[in-house]
Amino acid sequence: MTPAAAVAVRAAGSRLASEPASWPGHVFPDGAPAGAEAMAVAALVEPAFLAGAGWDRDQQVLHLVPDHPQFGWSACRFPGCPARRRVGRFC
Ligand SMILES: [Zn+2]
Repeated sequence: MTPAAAVAVRAAGSRLASEPASWPGHVFPDGAPAGAEAMAVAALVEPAFLAGAGWDRDQQVLHLVPDHPQFGWSACRFPGCPARRRVGRFC
């Protein structure tokens, strides 16, 4: 557990910390406006999980990828098609 996550976990037992021990740069770009609660929750999210799920921290958008173990889907097999497979191997 990172020091920032430890601070957030301790705080979650009573109330959220005013700030994590370090800036959660894997969630928010430097200087982004983020409240204390959002920063405490962000400190609990593993960087590898976000990277694998398709998190774009600069755009603050989650671009889900079809092969992700929790959020993935059966993708269409047509080359370059990003849609979900519906009938057989295609969308
Ligand atoms: Zn398709």
